Amino acid sequence: MSGEDSSATPRNAVVVGAGLAGLLAASVLAGADYDVTIVERDRLPAGPDARAGIPQAHHTHLLFERGETGVEELLPGIRSELREAGAVSLGLPGDLEWVGPAGVIPRFPSRRTVLSCTRPVLDWTVRRRVSRDPRISFREGARAIGLETSAGAVTGLRLRCGDTSEVIPAALVVDASGRSSAAPAWLVDAGFPAPAEETVDAAIAYTTGLFRRTAPVPGPARGVYLQVSGTSLPRFGIALPVERDRWIVAVGGLRGHEPPTDQEGFAAFAATLASPALAGFLAGAVADSPLRGFRPPGSRRRHFDRTARRPEGFVVVGDAVCTFNPVYGQGMTVAVRQALALRGVLTDHGTGPGFTRRVQRAVAAEAAGPWKIAEAEDLRHPGTRGGHRTPLHRLQHAYLDRVQRAATADVTANYALLDVLALCAPPTRLFAPSVLFSALRHGGR
Ligand SMILES: Cc1cc2nc3c(=O)[nH]c(=O)nc-3n(C[C@H](O)[C@H](O)[C@H](O)COP(=O)(O)OP(=O)(O)OC[C@H]3O[C@@H](n4cnc5c(N)ncnc54)[C@H](O)[C@@H]3O)c2cc1C
Repeated sequence: MSGEDSSATPRNAVVVGAGLAGLLAASVLAGADYDVTIVERDRLPAGPDARAGIPQAHHTHLLFERGETGVEELLPGIRSELREAGAVSLGLPGDLEWVGPAGVIPRFPSRRTVLSCTRPVLDWTVRRRVSRDPRISFREGARAIGLETSAGAVTGLRLRCGDTSEVIPAALVVDASGRSSAAPAWLVDAGFPAPAEETVDAAIAYTTGLFRRTAPVPGPARGVYLQVSGTSLPRFGIALPVERDRWIVAVGGLRGHEPPTDQEGFAAFAATLASPALAGFLAGAVADSPLRGFRPPGSRRRHFDRTARRPEGFVVVGDAVCTFNPVYGQGMTVAVRQALALRGVLTDHGTGPGFTRRVQRAVAAEAAGPWKIAEAEDLRHPGTRGGHRTPLHRLQHAYLDRVQRAATADVTANYALLDVLALCAPPTRLFAPSVLFSALRHGGR
């Protein structure tokens, strides 16, 4: 496809970004009979390797059950492909040595599952699958730089490839270019308003590495998860099995608790966490990769759903719409649900008038609940910047503290909390009579 052909045929779509959100959106569009070009600034590796465009891929990436079932719905059989690639399914809470903010979470029988593998394996497995679709092609090493519009609708995507610029004609452009998305600037350049934006920054910092065990894992747990313990110890640690018999281990902290990136400092930091489990784990392990630090920018939500005017045929999904504090593990599951939402709108309404607004609202709705959970938790910490602190948050935190304490003693509160954190139930689930009762009975100090 080249810039010489400037007519936008109605069934041409372009997706910007070959990350999870872009791959899934492309697959949905191909299923709706679009010929899809995925434009990606990186050269894509032939195997499960990290690449510059997704720097967070070196760090722990869990896919919640709701995300996993969603990917399976979109790409039937992908679950088996992920298992064959080495992804490990873990039961929650039963498979983890887990210390929550209120103390040790008992190993209740597992209620939910989570999929654990490195992010390159997840991306590569999905990409390999999506690239088998004859209606989807990849345009690698090309950077999207703007929209072409006419009469209030998208007619193509402008891109730069080396020193040359060109336009890919398209009736539909999906921006899935992640955190660094320039969609607001593209809209302004095309004469449309930029979306309102909100940010919350708990200033999280990670250090992560891959490890191999030199001795069997002590005890029956298959992983360790030490959550941030309220405001007194805003540090966390996690060790999970991933493909090829390795473990991904991360430690981190909020503002003022940034972890070191050398092996000795890493182990020393792990020893300061709420339980000795992670330090014990490291004592029986050897490094299988360099340690890498990462300081993600704060969470950001852009309200493309609320702009007064927008070009018909331009849709934004994934991290380009909303990024979350990664400690809550929400981003990929939200991206999967947004792809399902896109499919739902295409199936129920087609691409007639109002398509873009409908999709953008459905996409925003998928991010809204997770954003509320993450924002409320981030606002517990005095060092957090941005966000909308309201008197309600204080009440919410006090009640949630009770539920968290109850979750260390009673399965009802435990499962309800898990359902909400794993995005399987809305936060209102925590106010169900059975959970209220459990919080009253078991949630005292
Ligand atoms: C440290 C860390 C840990 C995380 N852990 C978890 C976790 O445990 N569970 C979870 O669900 N989520 C986690 N996340 C969030 C997760 O990484 C994101 O939600 C997810 O990557 C979003 O996918 P995406 O496709 O929207 O964006 P990305 O994966 O960032 O992909 C964007 C793609 O667009 C390409 N691109 C960018 N600009 C252009 C351009 N102009 N032209 C062409 N291509 C372009 C990039 O090269 C890239 O390939 C974590 C995030 C961080 C930072």
